[in-house]
Amino acid sequence: MEDIYGNEQRILDEAQLRIKAVKSGAEYDFGDYIFIVKEYRKILRHLRRTTKIADSISNKLHVDNLELNEKVHLDALTGIYNRRYMEESLSRIKKSLSRSSDVLSILMLDIDFFKGYNDTYGHAAGDVCLKTIAEAIDNSLFRPDDFVARYGGEEFIIVLPNTCKNGACHMAKKIIKNIGHLKIPHEKSEIATHVTVSIGAATGHVERHGKIDEYVECADTALYTAKNSGRNRYIHKNFNERG
Ligand code: GH3
Ligand code: MG
Ligand code: MG
Repeated sequence: MEDIYGNEQRILDEAQLRIKAVKSGAEYDFGDYIFIVKEYRKILRHLRRTTKIADSISNKLHVDNLELNEKVHLDALTGIYNRRYMEESLSRIKKSLSRSSDVLSILMLDIDFFKGYNDTYGHAAGDVCLKTIAEAIDNSLFRPDDFVARYGGEEFIIVLPNTCKNGACHMAKKIIKNIGHLKIPHEKSEIATHVTVSIGAATGHVERHGKIDEYVECADTALYTAKNSGRNRYIHKNFNERG
């Protein structure tokens, strides 16, 4: 690889040779001294320029890195957190809640008859509907630790740390109500004239050896029950209970 300071190295080597020559008794030539100072100044300028470039590259890399980090955790369509963020956060939350033996609630939300929505209004309108629902869920959350993530196609997970059964049911009711208020027309819905959602809610004490997947599965089971018992509703389940 080419040495970027090759030229400077040559100048310094030459300067050293001249100094040696002067030291060994040759007559002192003031011109040599001026030459060395001039060349040192050049080197300094060059180093300053190089450092500036390196600094600006490093700053840009830092900003790019922050942006990338954020993008890695955001869902491209809705702009809310994605599944990866949810899984990473849940692991962290699990660790901290298991130490304090606090409760966690998870809500799993699925849009009702969404296939019919896409078939009637088109996929692009379906995407707009997804964005609107994501925003409505996000706007329903007020605690700083609560968050919503897009879990899959038209499924969302809402994570509510330190939230008991009552709190989880309150949030599920509120989200269903807020989405209902949007009155997004849905002529293929078998239960309403507008878009509705179903929610499976799960609450429990977080155990050190408990698995995140089990908490999510519990909310999923509750969601399944909500779908089977008519949709546009929530069903709650405790995750420390068996069956
Ligand atoms: P159910 O009430 O039982 O939930 O009925 P459903 O029709 O909503 O059934 P399901 O939840 O299985 O439907 C998922 C549909 O969501 C199928 C797929 O076309 C649609 N979907 C998934 N991801 C996207 C997306 O990114 N954009 C759009 N427009 N549609 C999506
Ligand atoms: Mg679904
Ligand atoms: Mg659905």
